[in-house]
Amino acid sequence: MAGEPQPDCLFCKIAAGEIPATVLRKTERTLTFRDINPQAPTHLLVIPHAHYPNAAALAAAEPEIAGELLAEAGAAAAEEGLSDYRLIFNTGAGAGQTIFHAHVHVLGGRALHERMV
Ligand code: AMP
Ligand code: ZN
Repeated sequence: MAGEPQPDCLFCKIAAGEIPATVLRKTERTLTFRDINPQAPTHLLVIPHAHYPNAAALAAAEPEIAGELLAEAGAAAAEEGLSDYRLIFNTGAGAGQTIFHAHVHVLGGRALHERMV
């Protein structure tokens, strides 16, 4: 069934609490945690608990959760004291996606004209 946990997916394991992460926010349907290899002073990831291979697939199947991902990204950025930040959805290996569970990067704390990812 769409959205079901995938056995070899790192972010499914983080969502299930099976692999530790520095969690900042948790809702019934999303989790926000620090990226393990930060590319900016603040680098967060927001994921749905449900497994979809990328953000567009999530939005097509569960638009409410996709919207919640953005709301959570904004809330987490505000909690980190960021008024200016960048949201990135890498989609496809050729665009730098390495984990095929939908996620949005929240990057900030540095001048945004610099490349961050
Ligand atoms: P992407 O390249 O868009 O697929 O992003 C995947 C992100 O996940 C990268 O920025 C990684 O640094 C990050 N990442 C990989 N493993 C972990 C982990 N165990 N905890 C937190 N972030 C991770
Ligand atoms: Zn997954």
